[in-house]
Amino acid sequence: MDCAQVKCLALTFDDGPGKYAGTLLDTLKKYNAKATFFLEGQYVKSRPAFVKRMAKEGHELGNHSYSHPNFTTIEPDAVKNEIQKTQDAVKKAAGVEPKLLRPPYGMLDVQTSEVAAGFGMPMILWTAGSRDWATKNSAEIKKQTLAVAKPNGIILMHDWVKQTVDVMPSLVKLLQSRGYTLVKVSDIIKSENLQPGDAFPVPEGWEN
Ligand SMILES: [Zn+2]
Repeated sequence: MDCAQVKCLALTFDDGPGKYAGTLLDTLKKYNAKATFFLEGQYVKSRPAFVKRMAKEGHELGNHSYSHPNFTTIEPDAVKNEIQKTQDAVKKAAGVEPKLLRPPYGMLDVQTSEVAAGFGMPMILWTAGSRDWATKNSAEIKKQTLAVAKPNGIILMHDWVKQTVDVMPSLVKLLQSRGYTLVKVSDIIKSENLQPGDAFPVPEGWEN
C-alpha cells in the first residue's frame, strides 16, 4: 500500500484480543479493511485463536505489554519481561513476532525507548482517539472517529468495547465512502524511516 498515493488511515485496537474480536474480524474481512492490534500478552494467552486469525487475515500485530503496567514506573528488567512474554505468546499463537510496540497508556520515557530499541521496535502512539473507552456509546464513537480521521492518521480504539465493534460496519463504510483506505500502521510509517526506540507520532517534549 502506497500511502503517498492513497488516502490511508490506520485503525488500531488496544488491550486485546478482546472477547468481541471475532465479530470485528468478520467486519474487517467483509469490507476488505486492515487493522493493527496492539495485543496484551495475557489475553493472547487466553484467546490465541483470535491472534492466529488476525495474522492469517493480513492484520498487523503489535506488542502492548503483558499485563498493562505503566512502563515509566517499573524497572527496565520488568519492562523487558513484559515485552518478551508478549512476543513469545504472539509467536506461539500466530507464528509471527510483533515489530511495533505501543507502551500502555502511551506512557514512555528514555528507559522505555532503550528497552524498545533492544527489541528493535519503534514505539507507536496515535494521532487521535475514538474515546470509545470513555463514552461506550456507538453514535459518539462514530462521530468522534469521523471528526478526527485524517490522511495517514492513527486512531486509537479498543476491541473490548462492545459499542466499538457494534458500530464498526457503519463506520468502516463511511470512512471508505470518504475515500479512506484502511491500512496497517506499518503502511503509514513506511515513509517515516523510524529507528528502533523512536516514538511516532513524536509526543510533545520528546525528541527521537
Ligand atoms: Zn492499553
